[in-house]
Amino acid sequence: MMRILVSACLLGRPVRYDGRAKDPGTDLLDRWQAEGRLVPLCPEMAGGLPVPRQPAEIEPGATANGVLTGRGSIRAATGEDVTAAFLAGAAAAVRLARATGCRHALLTEGSPSCGVRRVHAGRFDGRTIPGQGVVAAALRAEGIAVYSQSEAADLAHMLALAEKPGF
Ligand code: SF4
Repeated sequence: MMRILVSACLLGRPVRYDGRAKDPGTDLLDRWQAEGRLVPLCPEMAGGLPVPRQPAEIEPGATANGVLTGRGSIRAATGEDVTAAFLAGAAAAVRLARATGCRHALLTEGSPSCGVRRVHAGRFDGRTIPGQGVVAAALRAEGIAVYSQSEAADLAHMLALAEKPGF
């Protein structure tokens, strides 16, 4: 059975910066949870950040791959540089995916860690831009297929095909 690394906040865990969970907007997670497929992780907590915590964004002009290679930072709304904790969280996600054999991940869109196709623009004004979080970038660099919660049906389709007898 193919396992899925999943953002813990999508499973109802109150681990977001504001102490809340994130509604995944799909029942598929309940099914996958019952099947024992899910490997939950909050990378920011794994990186040592508390709950609640200051919101953080990738700085304007930087990208997740830039942050991973020392060419950009992630800053809290206070201006504090929190890059090290985010990098530690991304490394923890890669280690966990390797240890559990996850080749797929379902992550929370928009997060500077877990964002899959969009991230906040770095000025804490609510604006988002195309991009990814550092966890998504680190997992993709490992060859892991990354989906956002709004793409859960695509992941279900792929799993059904891959696990079809005789495939
Ligand atoms: S780091 Fe990921 S799992 Fe943790 S709260 Fe943010 S989006 Fe959710």
